[in-house]
Amino acid sequence: MNNNTYDVVIVGAGIIGAAIGYELSKKGRRTLNIDMLPAAGYGSTSNSCAIIRLYYSTLDGCAMAYDGYHYWKEWANYLQAPQKELLASFNENGTLVMKTTLNDGLRKQIAHLDTLGIPYEHWSKEQIMESYPFYNLSNFAPAKILDDPDFGEPSGGQLDGAIFFPKGGYISDPQFATKNIQLATERVGGQFRFNSRVREIPTHNAKVQGVVLDDGTRIDAPVVINVAGPHSCQINAIAGAEKDMNISTRALRQEVAHVSAPDGIDYSSFASVVADSDVAVYSRPEIGNNILIGSEDPPCDSHEYVDPDNYDSNFSDQWTLLAQRLGQRIPGLGIPNNMKGCVDLYDVTEDWLPIYDRSCVEGYYMACGSSGNQFKNAPVAGKVMAELIEFCESGNDHDKQPMLYRLENVNHDINLGTFSRLREINQDSTFSVLG
Ligand SMILES: Cc1cc2nc3c(=O)[nH]c(=O)nc-3n(C[C@H](O)[C@H](O)[C@H](O)COP(=O)(O)OP(=O)(O)OC[C@H]3O[C@@H](n4cnc5c(N)ncnc54)[C@H](O)[C@@H]3O)c2cc1C
Repeated sequence: MNNNTYDVVIVGAGIIGAAIGYELSKKGRRTLNIDMLPAAGYGSTSNSCAIIRLYYSTLDGCAMAYDGYHYWKEWANYLQAPQKELLASFNENGTLVMKTTLNDGLRKQIAHLDTLGIPYEHWSKEQIMESYPFYNLSNFAPAKILDDPDFGEPSGGQLDGAIFFPKGGYISDPQFATKNIQLATERVGGQFRFNSRVREIPTHNAKVQGVVLDDGTRIDAPVVINVAGPHSCQINAIAGAEKDMNISTRALRQEVAHVSAPDGIDYSSFASVVADSDVAVYSRPEIGNNILIGSEDPPCDSHEYVDPDNYDSNFSDQWTLLAQRLGQRIPGLGIPNNMKGCVDLYDVTEDWLPIYDRSCVEGYYMACGSSGNQFKNAPVAGKVMAELIEFCESGNDHDKQPMLYRLENVNHDINLGTFSRLREINQDSTFSVLG
């Protein structure tokens, strides 16, 4: 075997690509993660809000998130890390989800939570005000654009309480968490190559042969996996793998705002992640006594699909809109002139659920379309993909008879047909970042 031959090449070294490399290396495969950026997790992972929450619109979605939660909780164990290694931390401050007309008080999700034994508490309005005395609990829905003359006007009545999930929170530093997985992978023999862009994915008789890099270097491998995040569509196209796909992926531009907490409030000392579909934003504490604000993608907002190699990374009106939307709930929130936060890309499918699948090109697989909501699931996705590849490479027809994946920490099997590229659009989805 020469230096440029591997069992598996993984295009991408974000949190999901790294997790797949880790699992396959543990199974004894010679893996190489290739990334065009200079380090692991420098792509869209680096700007992830890294929120760990357990409520999704489908039972499989909730089960996968709950399984993933356990790996974040036992991060050192998952990584088999030496005792003194520095690791990303899990701020387990819980998630508070407002009960709104839009989410129907999470009625559908509660049925899934009960099935899976996920703990939660019903909070009254008074309980919310005890923790967040600076909140205005008026209803503002439906969400509006800033130019709407009714923006910021209460629409009648108040929030109907909330659901609090004690298990949940956010990871301190998503890029560093990816670096943790890189080191874990290298400890079990996996390799990484940075500053190298995959330009071609040669095939022969509809079977993948490996990859060719921008500088002409050829790397041979019988298995190639597309984990290229917002570039996944480009990678599928050069592999000729998009032909039979019923679900596609596109890069969607997203802004996240960081705004100082109101004067006199030490926000990170008590606040959890808060999801508030009435004002169409989610928020969480961010370092420097800031509040991080992300969008829940209400229908009135336009979606800006872009070329992942050429998009505007400056803040726009979306930043101000996010801050003003949270300002409805927190009247004391100042909206500063200096915009802080980030601009990055989601890799979005039609139903905002990911694709974890094989393809029509033998040996070529994809873990993409993460739709702004798969950071938390990365450790599970790594295991799912490693098993799926073994399943398919040993001759099983996953398209005809989808593999079942038994979760390690939750008593539940996931039918991987749910994440197939051939699926019909899943109408149970919220068709938003909530999945
Ligand atoms: C603003 C934002 C907020 C988010 N918040 C959350 C959240 O709170 N919770 C949650 O669960 N999820 C969240 N997500 C989603 C989550 O971050 C992603 O699902 C996850 O990080 C995707 O990881 P990945 O490894 O698939 O992709 P990426 O991290 O994008 O990695 C893909 C890598 O592929 C490389 N690449 C691409 N093309 C090539 C090529 N031709 N050759 C070589 N390398 C290539 C890129 O350089 C990149 O490093 C958020 C995402 C964003 C953008």
